[in-house]
Amino acid sequence: MIKETPNKPYPVRYLKGVGPQRAQALARFGISTIEDFLYYLPRKYEDRTHVTPIADVVPGMVVTVCAWITRVSSNRRWGHASRLTLRIEDDTGRMDAVFFNQPYLREKFEKGTRAVFSGKAKLYKGLQLSSPEYEILEDEDSEPSSCAIVPFYTVPAGLSQQMLRKLMQNALRKAPEVIEDGIPEALRRKRHLPDLHTALRNAHFPASLQESKEAVRRLKYEEFFVLELALALRRVRNLQKTSAPIKVTPRIDRRIRRLYDFSLTRAQERAISEIVSDLASPHPMNRLLQGDVGSGKTAVAVYALLAAVANGYQAAFMAPTEILAEQHYHTLSRYLKGARVKLAFLSSSTGPQRVEIHRKIASGEIDIAVGTHALVQKKVKFARLALAVVDEQHKFGVMQRGRLRAHGAIPHVLVMTATPIPRTLALTVYGDLDISVLDELPPGRRPVETHFVQRKNEEKVFDFVRDVVKAGRQAYFVYPLIEASQEIQLRSAKEMFQRLSRDIFGEFRVGLLHGRMKPEKKEKTFADFASGRIDILVSTVVIEVGIDVAGAAVMVIDQCERFGLAQLHQLRGRIGRGAYRSTCLLLGEPATEEAKRRVKAILSTTDGFKIAEEDLALRGPGEFFGTKQSGLPDLKIADIVGDYRILRSAAEDAFRLVGEDPALSKKANAGTRDLLLRRLGKRAGLISIG
Ligand code: ADP
Ligand code: MG
Repeated sequence: MIKETPNKPYPVRYLKGVGPQRAQALARFGISTIEDFLYYLPRKYEDRTHVTPIADVVPGMVVTVCAWITRVSSNRRWGHASRLTLRIEDDTGRMDAVFFNQPYLREKFEKGTRAVFSGKAKLYKGLQLSSPEYEILEDEDSEPSSCAIVPFYTVPAGLSQQMLRKLMQNALRKAPEVIEDGIPEALRRKRHLPDLHTALRNAHFPASLQESKEAVRRLKYEEFFVLELALALRRVRNLQKTSAPIKVTPRIDRRIRRLYDFSLTRAQERAISEIVSDLASPHPMNRLLQGDVGSGKTAVAVYALLAAVANGYQAAFMAPTEILAEQHYHTLSRYLKGARVKLAFLSSSTGPQRVEIHRKIASGEIDIAVGTHALVQKKVKFARLALAVVDEQHKFGVMQRGRLRAHGAIPHVLVMTATPIPRTLALTVYGDLDISVLDELPPGRRPVETHFVQRKNEEKVFDFVRDVVKAGRQAYFVYPLIEASQEIQLRSAKEMFQRLSRDIFGEFRVGLLHGRMKPEKKEKTFADFASGRIDILVSTVVIEVGIDVAGAAVMVIDQCERFGLAQLHQLRGRIGRGAYRSTCLLLGEPATEEAKRRVKAILSTTDGFKIAEEDLALRGPGEFFGTKQSGLPDLKIADIVGDYRILRSAAEDAFRLVGEDPALSKKANAGTRDLLLRRLGKRAGLISIG
């Protein structure tokens, strides 16, 4: 698509004042080119523009002076106040700064240091500042020119603030030769952004704090712009590929709808029509189906899978865990009772019959293959795969999705997620996907009631569960660990299974489920719970995703402070799936502020989007699922949460630009193309530039 190579980068060691040693020091901070260095922004600025020369100070004036300490004298007598007097001088004059009853200050102010003092000037044996605010300037900052807006950097070992500033001045002088503005002028004008060189200068040495703000805003915009261009190009590239069109005729539509024993919600109908129109296109669908737990995503997926099969193609349905994949397999089997669609299940624990399944997938005898990662193994070759549905994709990471697509022709892809995606991430990590949202629950659901219970009232929890189970419902008990360990003193699923099954709920059937059990054992336990042969399931977060047991009406989450917010929401989504009242009980002792906030959030709402926003705010985007996974550039200056508005403008502009000029070949976009190639480096391959 985009062919030319960018200008060769200038290594930072070409910069005046940078020898091999300093180059090495900078390299430790990820700075290898002059461009990297120019984008290395100050961590803070100090405004010294309002400094008054001492000669201009008059009594009664509130002033800031920047001066050398030329004499330190302290005066201390028994029974009297102690007094510390500093003689301070700048190029224009001298005065005193006086501190009372702070004898420890004596150690701080040394003759020869430079400091900034602010306070009200008085006349008392000459001009003096009485108990002023002060700030001792760092040694290297003692140049006389520093009464301006002064940048402060995080300085690599082996360099100093002052040196770094000097090198930055050199770099800024060199900048026009080294880099070109990557934001087209028209966009700069539209968004009121300074040009690159002005922005760089003002980001380091602004004349006012306002100037630095504008400069940084431009650099943030630029960072987002690159990210969004990458996404826009990835999307364009996807649209240039071909895949098998899947047509849904009225007859096919009728045949599929006959399989549902409920009527679809409006949100499901909307998602289905979006999917149907994507599928009809000869270019691959790349759609994210987002809906809170229980919103009926699987029902929508079933429609798409059957549409593919009705067109004579194969489809794959992939889930991140064995249990979930099994469950999808059973759900599909239920839908397809009486239909002539051939299903297969494949996971890493599929026994020797695997060979036969591989063969049938390759020959086209299997219509829909349901499974785990096992579906993307090299050995699995589909005869005519046209659609892949991937559940809970963030658990796979992006690479898996890519791999499945790489088999033969390019299939349409539908990604499902119950993790509501905050708007910021929808614009970044998922920026190249189309999104359908199920924002409505099937009718008749009652929201889950959530309560926090203190450990000392644990007995009440047990009594409550006992009543519910006696009434014919089921319960989950969830623990953060499988087994207790020496290091972490937590209650574990195994230990509590013993206690609950023997001492507390002796009269009920209690089961244990965790990730380290053998797959057959896991599956049996789960099937027993699903069919009601187990009343109480003691578990870990293995049940977090997608498990659907309508009879479960209570969930007890023990040591709830140990779980993340999204995790608590997912766990809670396992109940409230039938038409009766469900209750989630949180047991625990949240100690930290963050844990308290999490518990408060989960108590206050069941809205997955609100929870996701709060989660993102608490954990930050890196933790949530950062851009790392997506193969996109990291953000150094901008922050997707705090700078959301800039992000939105940059996204809009980048997608429009790529829409108008998909190869970035227009002359006005040459700088943009260069910028992209420089920034993406090796990753350019991912979006097929270069
Ligand atoms: P999700 O995957 O989004 O968590 P599912 O597709 O598993 O949700 O649906 C949850 C439950 O709701 C399932 O038991 C399903 O049969 C049922 N369901 C789905 N859509 C509807 C609907 N439109 N009306 C009634 N029940 C529905
Ligand atoms: Mg589901």
